[in-house]
Amino acid sequence: MTGATFAQVLSVPAPGPARPFTHVTSPGITGLSNLVRLAPGTYIERMAQLDTREKLAILADAAKYDASCASSGTAKRNSADGKGIGSTEGMGICHAYAPDGRCISLLKILLTNSCIFDCHYCINRKSSNVRRARFTADEVVELTLAFYRRNYIEGLFLSSGIIRSPDYTMEQLVEVARSLREDHHFRGYIHLKTIPDADPELVRLAGVHADRVSINVELPTAGGLKRLAPEKDGARIEGAMADVKASIADSRDATRKYKSAPRFAPAGQSTQMIVGADAATDGDIVKRASTLYDRFGLRRVYYSAFSPIPDASAVLPLRRPPLMREHRLYQSDWLMRFYDYRPDEVVAAADPSTGMLPLDIDPKLAWALRFRDRFPIDINRAPREMLLRVPGLGVKAVNAILTSRRWRRLRLDDVARLTVSVTKIRPFIVAEDWRPVMLTDRADLKPLVTPKREQLELFAA
Ligand code: SF4
Repeated sequence: MTGATFAQVLSVPAPGPARPFTHVTSPGITGLSNLVRLAPGTYIERMAQLDTREKLAILADAAKYDASCASSGTAKRNSADGKGIGSTEGMGICHAYAPDGRCISLLKILLTNSCIFDCHYCINRKSSNVRRARFTADEVVELTLAFYRRNYIEGLFLSSGIIRSPDYTMEQLVEVARSLREDHHFRGYIHLKTIPDADPELVRLAGVHADRVSINVELPTAGGLKRLAPEKDGARIEGAMADVKASIADSRDATRKYKSAPRFAPAGQSTQMIVGADAATDGDIVKRASTLYDRFGLRRVYYSAFSPIPDASAVLPLRRPPLMREHRLYQSDWLMRFYDYRPDEVVAAADPSTGMLPLDIDPKLAWALRFRDRFPIDINRAPREMLLRVPGLGVKAVNAILTSRRWRRLRLDDVARLTVSVTKIRPFIVAEDWRPVMLTDRADLKPLVTPKREQLELFAA
């Protein structure tokens, strides 16, 4: 938007000379009474006439593309002592999930969907013809408190397009969190999206007030970022993540020595990658995620399947990737974080010719089918690392097997009691009374162990 902020846009008396405004709309959308005429055929909506409900509709809808809203892992805080308001734990916190599985228990909004950047994949980019709105910091504070009191939410997830400058925008985001914490003693969960180009001191202040901060790496490869978000700088994004990591480490050291030392982002930092907007394969994404976990101590990497947007740029694919691809990437992430798979092992589960994980089976089963020579494993003797690689055995089941086998040798029935389906497990294990005969050598093993698809009933009890 060539440097003009939306606030400045609002103060423009109509009509004016033709200017390169991009936040335009057509009279057919909202009616002429809401529009200021800038030039023949060019109108801009009067934002002052949007009430809070309209702004909320626009800015909550604009925030839905951000997947990184889970509130796990924060410090326990509550107002049971009668002081303050809000809680990050226990009863009274309402959790809800959208049909696509995204967490919506937080008030998840943008401060504004206006932006001076023009990232191709983003509906809020400056050249996008969407309806714009902007909250003040006070409005977000009031909304959060009102929703919290009604028990609609357990906290706030706040992000923003960039207006005026990264520093100005970051100041507004920090002001929301500061006011909630200091003026209203809000003890609920706050997740702030931070802006990598903002002054590091502002990012530090965000971490002082928020439970979690996140900086989006946006795309899995440097080439993808350069092509689809040319105004963003991969080095600056990583620099900001390194600063946050250092502040979290300093804060942990301080709280070990002094219990009352101020905490910095106790729920850590996370990031998000868009999947399917560029040519990156699942193998590229898995490797990138693993590097991010190692280098920046991230709590989570979120994967967001690219959604085609109206008036999309020609450099974007026309179709969205299957949502199942996003799901398989989350499963592969899970394997690295909880099942001790190395990134190269997860990559090995992908099809070598395409670098993509199969969509019809999970990556753990894909790995086991590809490396059949490692199976069957003896459930009564195998190390934990190999038990974790048996399709159908979860971490809890593996821990139970390790405990039980100290006292007796386990039979197939014992294992069946610990799992949802023993059919998937049988070809891969040896138990006291069970040995699969040539099962892992069968050409049709995959259909035998692939979960059957079933039509779920919409109104099932
Ligand atoms: S900076 Fe953020 S809000 Fe602005 S266009 Fe890029 S992705 Fe969208």
